[in-house]
Amino acid sequence: MIDFPLPRLQPQEAAVYAALGLKSGSRPSPRSSALLLRALELFKICSEPLGLCAAIALDEFADVFSGQGRNAPDTPLKKIFPRADSLHLFAFTMGARISEEIKSLFASDDFALGSVLDAVASLAADQAGRVAEEWIERQDAMQKNGALSRAFLYSPGYCGWHISAQEKLFARLRPEKIGITLNESFLMSPLKSISGVLVTGPALIHQFSEVYPFCAHCKSPACRERGMARSA
Ligand code: SF4
Repeated sequence: MIDFPLPRLQPQEAAVYAALGLKSGSRPSPRSSALLLRALELFKICSEPLGLCAAIALDEFADVFSGQGRNAPDTPLKKIFPRADSLHLFAFTMGARISEEIKSLFASDDFALGSVLDAVASLAADQAGRVAEEWIERQDAMQKNGALSRAFLYSPGYCGWHISAQEKLFARLRPEKIGITLNESFLMSPLKSISGVLVTGPALIHQFSEVYPFCAHCKSPACRERGMARSA
């Protein structure tokens, strides 16, 4: 069972300001600092982090990956997962309470605090993915007597993997057990939830040099931040 302690999930101040559009190196105003302090208090009170992780065989994952047959013809994950040493389906949620708090702040016209808490919760959910990656890497290292592998989380809705694959992912993993449900557009509720497959293997399997057609519309090139795209 993966543990998600709040201090590991709480984002750095600089990351929250960057997510809110403050230029790197700029000094936040006293009002922004006070809003962030309040948002972090709410984050501590309202977060109910829970995760679910289950190993899946390569051929079974091939079926989850194909989803409803709506993936892009070529995707990084299509080439990466067959080379993995292990695959784990994964889902995580920050819980319903924090999403309800964000909704209620927007409903009561407190857009400023609502936006800051929204950014904090989104960054925390992303950080949960990294916590899970590190947990899998530690498990893998213990099994292989210390040989180093890299685990990365890949999610439906990104990099050509169509979001409708959530249907098969949910049918297999059953994230309802930790309170995550899927709507008819394949979006998760609570909103601050993530899902996908943790792909573990030598670092090299995660690297690619192609630029895919969908990369032209990518607003957050995580592959570059993670050092996976060598020239994308
Ligand atoms: S540029 Fe964006 S869409 Fe393309 S592979 Fe990287 S993260 Fe995925």
